[in-house]
Amino acid sequence: MTMGALPVLVAGGGIGGLSTALALARRGIRVRVLEQAAAFGEIGAGIQLAPNASRVLDALGVLEDISADAWFPDYAVMIDARDGREITRIALGAAFVARYGYRYMVVHRQDLLAALLSACRREAAIALLTGKRVGVLRDFPDRVEVSCADGSVEAGAALIGADGVWSGVRAQVIGDGAPRVSGHVCYRGTLPMAEIPDRSYANAMALWVSEAMHLVQYPMRRGELMNNVAVIDSPKFRSGVAAFGDWGEVETLFATAMPRVRDMLGYMDRERNWILHDRDPPDRLFRAWQPGACHHRPPQRGVAENPRHAEGRRIDPQRRQRARRWFARGFRARCARSVRPLGQGDSPHRSQARLGGRSVQRAAPCMR
Ligand SMILES: Cc1cc2nc3c(=O)[nH]c(=O)nc-3n(C[C@H](O)[C@H](O)[C@H](O)COP(=O)(O)OP(=O)(O)OC[C@H]3O[C@@H](n4cnc5c(N)ncnc54)[C@H](O)[C@@H]3O)c2cc1C
Repeated sequence: MTMGALPVLVAGGGIGGLSTALALARRGIRVRVLEQAAAFGEIGAGIQLAPNASRVLDALGVLEDISADAWFPDYAVMIDARDGREITRIALGAAFVARYGYRYMVVHRQDLLAALLSACRREAAIALLTGKRVGVLRDFPDRVEVSCADGSVEAGAALIGADGVWSGVRAQVIGDGAPRVSGHVCYRGTLPMAEIPDRSYANAMALWVSEAMHLVQYPMRRGELMNNVAVIDSPKFRSGVAAFGDWGEVETLFATAMPRVRDMLGYMDRERNWILHDRDPPDRLFRAWQPGACHHRPPQRGVAENPRHAEGRRIDPQRRQRARRWFARGFRARCARSVRPLGQGDSPHRSQARLGGRSVQRAAPCMR
């Protein structure tokens, strides 16, 4: 079994995993996506896609498909939830597009995933596997192997962890612990547009804010649905109460909001909430066991060193600092590129490269 014959494995078939698979396939790399669920699917409703996301989706060839079901707000607005005063407003029309290259759009997550999924299905280089819960990883000189919960073993030239915020791949590759609870709790609700009595901001991405709470509202799916999200920064959590984020806490924090905002709580599904989690960026993004891959040293020293020396975890502090500076410079450069108007030499290949960088940053690949 040679490395060239092996596909790249992607653990997780969410937005991140499918985008990564497409980006690799577009570069001629074979991919096997291993998704734990019985079917590919997305939980939740709306997602906002700024021009930097659209640029990547365009490079992947799925933007047109996604746009067909999207909604393009005329402006984004931040409003004081107590009195309705507008704090700021950003027009998302022609000047915005001229500056950033793409429109600002909001889509239903299912539509986004469906577009990515059908693009993946059209790619001969991508194998999509469901019911494959990735477990233990094992490294060999010429491949990585993962054991799946169904008893199968998958071998790949590399493994990319796109298995979400609770990533088991990240736990094994980086081992920086579980994500931390941020203290923010979110309730969501999606309604047909016809059931929204007050549509005064129906052509906007509207954000009502006050102390320790905010509420986001925007149309999606061609304007047929209204997405509503209420978020609190839980005082109970901040004061150490174990059970927090209940509906009563939401009502307390929204009590000072004006009636229009309080009314919108009626759109939320009270039975389900999302306790939001966060985590710090890792010190390193990959590990490589072939010593030359990330930690070059002369052969005469090789035998004296544990192969794990090649892991980022053992990189000395100066090297780590240099890597951080390099990463920060790259990040700034990427940001600068993403605000550059369209048509100034931004080839699809460069966009794909950025996608690769972003996925890698978010996920935690295990590169050989
Ligand atoms: C309330 C809320 C609002 C948000 N709004 C926005 C927004 O407006 N715009 C935006 O850009 N982002 C937004 N985000 C962030 C965005 O949702 C996430 O960044 C994105 O969904 C992450 O996608 P992912 O594919 O990396 O992970 P996930 O969507 O978590 O997908 C991970 C996949 O991996 C699978 N998996 C997990 N473990 C395994 C395993 N062991 N083996 C195999 N498969 C596995 C899961 O089943 C799942 O399919 C929001 C997040 C929240 C919570």
